[in-house]
Amino acid sequence: MPPTVRSKLPDVGTTIFTVMSARAAEVGAINLSQGFPDFAVPEALREALARHVHAGQNQYAPMAGVLALREQVAASVLRHHGWRVDPVDEVTVVPGATEAIFCAIMASVMPGDEVILFDPAYDSYEPSVRMAGGRAVRIPLQPPAFRIDWQRVKEALGPRTRLIVINTPHNPTGSMLDAADLDALEELLSHSDALLLSDEVYEHLVYDGRRHLSVLSRPALAERAFAVFSFGKTFHATGWKTGYCVAPPALTTEFRRVHQFVTFVAVTPIQHALADFMRDHPEHIAGLGAFYQAKRDFFCDALEGSGWQGERASGSFFQLLDYSRIADVPDTEMAERLVRDHGVAAIPISVFYENPPHMRLLRFCFAKQEQTLSRGAERLLAL
Ligand code: PMP
Ligand code: GLN
Repeated sequence: MPPTVRSKLPDVGTTIFTVMSARAAEVGAINLSQGFPDFAVPEALREALARHVHAGQNQYAPMAGVLALREQVAASVLRHHGWRVDPVDEVTVVPGATEAIFCAIMASVMPGDEVILFDPAYDSYEPSVRMAGGRAVRIPLQPPAFRIDWQRVKEALGPRTRLIVINTPHNPTGSMLDAADLDALEELLSHSDALLLSDEVYEHLVYDGRRHLSVLSRPALAERAFAVFSFGKTFHATGWKTGYCVAPPALTTEFRRVHQFVTFVAVTPIQHALADFMRDHPEHIAGLGAFYQAKRDFFCDALEGSGWQGERASGSFFQLLDYSRIADVPDTEMAERLVRDHGVAAIPISVFYENPPHMRLLRFCFAKQEQTLSRGAERLLAL
């Protein structure tokens, strides 16, 4: 008799990113769906990785991460957010921000606890909350601005709320929190015991002179936050799956209690390579905003005046486009038509909502070479 299989996530399918990338590969479409660059990792970073592999950095790193990299992270946090963190007991390097999110949730959410999420929510948040035994309380963000309604947060925040998850710059909408948002969050949390999980993987991808406002720029937020980042986004290396979590010592202790039994450590030579590159090439991060803004504008300029409409993204490497002038079908259907009949893969965003509002929007990743973007735009213009 085969065993009875019981599922912890019976209603959860394969993530939309995997589904759409697979569809793109199947039909040979231009893949603007899953978020990853189609251009190279900086040469000096690739060389650093090869150097460290050849030099023998191929065994387990320290559980919390290679110290030289954690020191670079602490220097970057101070430079960009004005917050001094101790690389020894406030920074943990992990195999990707996804793991950091999982560990922060596992470490802080007890069975029965509530966690506030904002829809559209990155798709790993809710399953992680449920695996921890918690319950997600989802507050929708309304198009077109996708701003947080703080009155609704106030109403949702109660004695069972253990965690609030924010994401800025935001995936999939490209919106960002501003100073008034952080003020509102600070005010609400001053009356609450809830912790904060701040997903800031797109911290350096911000446009039009905006500044990313990290929870690490506000002491009252930083003292209760797990702030999560991804080297994958910053260094064009999503496949290296390396990220980190910054949190005060007591929260870091809990975070590491989980991390040590999830993956234990991140990949050793990658950490050494990133440490070298961050030390020797500060111009990389300094130029990222302009680099990606040019890509966003190239893509949006190509579609200007067409039926594809949208406010340009404030941050992230995603552009939302409204297709209501082209078709009046749900976004999942539009995404399927687009990939099957027109050879462009995009991401429907209703899948990131518990109760999607009426909208006709798809998400396009512009972390691509100009040639890819212009071929994609050409096909979109044909609709
Ligand atoms: N959070 C958000 C909002 C993301 O877009 C991503 C990118 N996949 C992640 C977390 C996960 O990053 P990583 O690939 O480092 O796990
Ligand atoms: N974060 C990426 C995106 O939003 C994908 C990551 C993944 O495939 N899990 O497209």
